[in-house]
Amino acid sequence: MIKSKRRIYLREWIRYSKFAGTEGAREDKLVALSFDDGPHPDNTPRVIEILKENRIRATFFWIVENAINLSYSHPIIFKKILSEIKNNGYEVGLHAPNDLKPTIYSRFFGHFTKQELGEAKKKLETLTKTDVNLYRPHYLQLGSGIIHANQLGMTTVLGNLLKVVRPDGQIRSQVKTLSQAGAGNIIILHDGQNNQQGKNRILDVLPEGVRLLKNKGLKPTSVSKVLEN
Ligand SMILES: [Zn+2]
Repeated sequence: MIKSKRRIYLREWIRYSKFAGTEGAREDKLVALSFDDGPHPDNTPRVIEILKENRIRATFFWIVENAINLSYSHPIIFKKILSEIKNNGYEVGLHAPNDLKPTIYSRFFGHFTKQELGEAKKKLETLTKTDVNLYRPHYLQLGSGIIHANQLGMTTVLGNLLKVVRPDGQIRSQVKTLSQAGAGNIIILHDGQNNQQGKNRILDVLPEGVRLLKNKGLKPTSVSKVLEN
């Protein structure tokens, strides 16, 4: 009998994933802002402008195919995004090689092979000219991707799953979710647009959300900053 090697890596998903920052980050009142599904020609530059106005860092989890497409379709915008990321201390993590929606089967048992993830990591490193050490599985898949990422030397960051800001939800409810974050949380936002989403309202939500976080005495920053110390 051929035994299938495919299985749900639920235990590993919990063991290897980062859901929140360190105790030091909580004491320092840090909260991580992370943006999935980009880069996007309109949203990403404008999110960066909002971050710059507020003098805060953040992390972008990119779909590699989106980055490659953007480098061809909007080369000047893409170069500007890369230089802003470098100059302002933002970071880029791997989200997925492409935006193909997983099936119910692959969502649970693994959507990308280790080779596909490894190649995507390398492409992203070539494009950004930096090491890519963070991984957040697209659709938060429970399959083998998390094991592959671990073997490829990446840290999987799921973040605070109760603080996923749905990109096409009502503006008021998105701001509310964002502003309810606490010290040490890793907030999941979206600057890109995947196949499933309608309108992405991040640009209407982010300025007010950041203002409310700061009013609570929290310091928004990148994922690495809440994972270190
Ligand atoms: Zn995603």
